[in-house]
Amino acid sequence: MKKALITGITGQDGAYLAKLLLEKNYLVYGLVRRSSTAEVNDVRLRWLGIHDRVQLIDGDLLDNSSLCRAVRSTEPDEIYNLAAQSFVKTSWQQPLLTSAVTGVGVLNLLEAVRLERPIARFYQASSSEMYGLVQHPVQTERTPFYPRSPYAVAKLFGHWSTVNYRESFGLHASSGILFNHESPLRGIEFVTRKVTDGVARIKIGLSKDLRLGNIEAKRDWGHAQDYVKAMWLMLQQDMPGDYVIATGRTVTVRDMCKIAFDVVGLSIEDHLVIDKTLYRPAEVDILLGDSSKANSLLGWNPEISLETMIREMVEADMKRLTDSNAK
Ligand code: NDP
Ligand code: GDP
Repeated sequence: MKKALITGITGQDGAYLAKLLLEKNYLVYGLVRRSSTAEVNDVRLRWLGIHDRVQLIDGDLLDNSSLCRAVRSTEPDEIYNLAAQSFVKTSWQQPLLTSAVTGVGVLNLLEAVRLERPIARFYQASSSEMYGLVQHPVQTERTPFYPRSPYAVAKLFGHWSTVNYRESFGLHASSGILFNHESPLRGIEFVTRKVTDGVARIKIGLSKDLRLGNIEAKRDWGHAQDYVKAMWLMLQQDMPGDYVIATGRTVTVRDMCKIAFDVVGLSIEDHLVIDKTLYRPAEVDILLGDSSKANSLLGWNPEISLETMIREMVEADMKRLTDSNAK
């Protein structure tokens, strides 16, 4: 039985990846940081019905000793580093924390792997945000980076640290440059989930409008369930490497929003309010990825369309809200 250690298992991707690995018969360990509300931080694992099938271990990306202990005690074959302060907007409010967790935290874990378990295969959750002010209209593994937020700067540090540990110490360390991916388990502060939750609230009569910032920004949105498959595939290759994971389609926030309103038969014009205070200090205007490398070397392709995903998210939010209202 293969063993995997997932950091960030309580997050969106961690939960979907844990489910995938359990289906593949892995023993799944998850690193969880201490919380005073531990009874609710496995909410995503519960949603997927796997909370009692994973083994949780205390640890924090900020504490190298806890990572060494986690790696030593679990002896994993594969380590997936998904933990991060992952919200771009917060990274301007908490830049030092973001750098420490999302940037230096990667190095903390790489050091633990190098010292305690160098034969383990390592996955780093890199991000399309590293392209920022895009240097090419379509981004590939060879497109130069131009980060536009403290989050993206920190991700770049984590990305290059992963490449460097591969080249310096021969670790089987791969980096997935994943474009935005969403699901009903996406954090509510991200724009897709904010929109699907907002649309559901309006439909049910709990609110009247939806306030957004820059709706002209364009993103290449996929489904987390598809994207965790790519993470696993990267670690099954003989050679480690870096891969862009994207759908190859870019859509404005406005059009994504329209898809969500259409699901419930409401009109965007009647409910959307632009709030300039939600604009960011520096924006990533457009992202569009080319995942040809992943397609040819991993045989990976996205399967779930934006329309199907947004419908799934709106329906999940309607159900959440009606269930919690009924209580
Ligand atoms: P989430 O924000 O949903 O999950 C982040 C996870 O990191 C949570 O489990 C959180 O724990 C954990 N975490 C935060 N700080 C620490 C810390 N100091 N020590 C240990 N764990 C910590 O992110 P996603 O699942 O959406 O994303 C997974 C990874 O992929 C992240 O690294 C993200 O930056 C990256 N990524 C995501 C993309 C996306 O579109 N979703 C795109 C590209 C990259 P807790 O539950 O306690 O808060
Ligand atoms: P990001 O690409 O990782 O920053 O993911 P987000 O989902 O947070 O944001 C995607 C895009 O939506 C960005 O260009 C934001 O500026 C834009 N956006 C517009 N209004 C909002 C909003 O109210 N919340 C969020 N999170 N993003 C918004």
